[in-house]
Amino acid sequence: MSLVLAIVNQKGGVGKTTTAVNLAASLAAQEKRVLVVDLDPQGNATSGSGIARDQDDRPTVYHALLGESDIHRAVLPTEVPNLFIVPASADLVGAELELVAAEAREHRLREAIAPIRDGYDYVLIDCPPSLGLLTINALVAADRVLVPLQCEYYALEGLSSLLRTIEAVRGNLNRTLQLEGVVLTMFDARNNLARQVMKNVQDHMPGQVYSTVIPRNVRLSEAPSHGQPALLYDIESKGAQSYLQLANELVERQASDQTARQASDQTARQASDPKGGHHAATTPPAPDQDSKRARRA
Ligand code: ATP
Ligand code: MG
Repeated sequence: MSLVLAIVNQKGGVGKTTTAVNLAASLAAQEKRVLVVDLDPQGNATSGSGIARDQDDRPTVYHALLGESDIHRAVLPTEVPNLFIVPASADLVGAELELVAAEAREHRLREAIAPIRDGYDYVLIDCPPSLGLLTINALVAADRVLVPLQCEYYALEGLSSLLRTIEAVRGNLNRTLQLEGVVLTMFDARNNLARQVMKNVQDHMPGQVYSTVIPRNVRLSEAPSHGQPALLYDIESKGAQSYLQLANELVERQASDQTARQASDQTARQASDPKGGHHAATTPPAPDQDSKRARRA
């Protein structure tokens, strides 16, 4: 089953695109099929994945949102095997306005990706730095929200308004939306303020801050100008390694969530069994297995 992750923070320059591109490439390196949807008119995830921006005749996420093109036609392969992208283009700037009067305007992205999402293990949506209609579309399309957070003075204030937006979307537009977690980015352990903010965020949101922290690393900032994720540009760099670790943590968290969900489903089924029998959730053993077991006993 696919997981659609919106990468959101209304604050600019906190590492959303760097996280989208590098987490996506790191998941693809684990042989997961991954799609990045570039929902930011700046198109940084597009160029950072080695795709030239604004090629006139090519369908993009804009055309998919406005129903002018089937999203299949907008998907492009990248240099990383298993990693695909739906590019953005500058005309996406106009989409917010053009969608205002449109029917089901908040659901456009969800509907656009519905036919393709199951072709991928992960769909990562890179959002613009605002909580406007494009980001709302990402939150409606997503199963979970990943929040890159830079450890600086105003980080917590921004986080509160983002969490309120997520609540509002969950209440009105996407009842199953969940917070995947917070990833601390551009972290500099020598900086006292960064350490203090890290502690505040961890205290404020126990269990929801990823233990992988992305350090400030020059290779991460150089890689986009080569149109490559850091693991192609310099796999040994601390930046590339930290995103590989983040991908591992995401996959492990998902696996443990699934185990917890299965266990709670089983408990619920047992609780609803009128006889209180504990076989309710399992298939009864076949008669011949029963008799074998009896013979062995
Ligand atoms: P926007 O809100 O404009 O979309 P963003 O949240 O997507 O920005 P990025 O573009 O990922 O942020 O990062 C902002 C700048 O910081 C970029 O120049 C990027 O290369 C650089 N950068 C991001 N993460 C790191 C890091 N861990 N170490 C060093 N530089 C980084
Ligand atoms: Mg960005």
